[in-house]
Amino acid sequence: MERVSNALFVTMHVALLLVFVVPLSWTVVALALGGYALRMGAVTGGYHRYFAHRAYKTSRAFQLLLAVVGATSMQNGPIWWASVHRRHHKESDGPGDPHSPVGRGFWHAHIGWVFDRTVPPPRDDSNVGDLLRYPELRWVDRHDWVFLAAYAVACAAIGGVPGLVWGFVVSTLAVFHATMLINSLAHLWGSRRYATGDQSRNNPLLAVLTFGEGWHNNHHHYMSSARQGFYWWEVDLTYYVLRALAAVGAIWDVREPPPSAREPGGAELRAVVGRAAA
Ligand SMILES: [Zn+2]
Ligand SMILES: [Zn+2]
Repeated sequence: MERVSNALFVTMHVALLLVFVVPLSWTVVALALGGYALRMGAVTGGYHRYFAHRAYKTSRAFQLLLAVVGATSMQNGPIWWASVHRRHHKESDGPGDPHSPVGRGFWHAHIGWVFDRTVPPPRDDSNVGDLLRYPELRWVDRHDWVFLAAYAVACAAIGGVPGLVWGFVVSTLAVFHATMLINSLAHLWGSRRYATGDQSRNNPLLAVLTFGEGWHNNHHHYMSSARQGFYWWEVDLTYYVLRALAAVGAIWDVREPPPSAREPGGAELRAVVGRAAA
């Protein structure tokens, strides 16, 4: 899928109504929650922090695994995702931003942009040359629907129709909308520690829901960091998992924000305070 197709998207939302008729069991609850955790982790730790920002290094095999799991989340392939997201950072909240609530409003930033064929412009891979070098990534990117379908089949095999409804439909849409809240709400609601040139916010509620992505003002301030919660009290589950993966050698060179980057105002502020004290 070049993009999430309109038909699939509408069908998935209509299918949500089935939650009122299919029986609930511990198996399907586990399937729904486990599927949310697995795929939210793949989107934040894989699609976002690895493919879009290259915030750590890993092997070609683990890179492929991240791409495959990410592709089950109905957010298109890793190269498309990285390309759109890099444009979001470059043009943040400006006219060239694929999704911004500034000007176009909440709903356009949340979901309208996915179906708006004019924004972003027809596929432009000029900013993802580093990812296009890998033929296996290009294949996953073109055939992401294969992995999405396989995930649906696996849910049905494990839990029948209830498994399909809760494990696939509910879980996939939850991951989808939670991710989209970063595009919409995280540029509208929350605090701003850093005076970035956009409207990005830090929001603890979104950080819990999206495993750390809610520290979005931190992220726009220093986007190449694998860590988005800059302080211990800024809960960032993705970062903890990445640290665990580094501890077992699956990934390495995990990038952190330098202390100077974490301080709001940084060197400038210290100079002003220093002059006042003198
Ligand atoms: Zn943003
Ligand atoms: Zn980003």
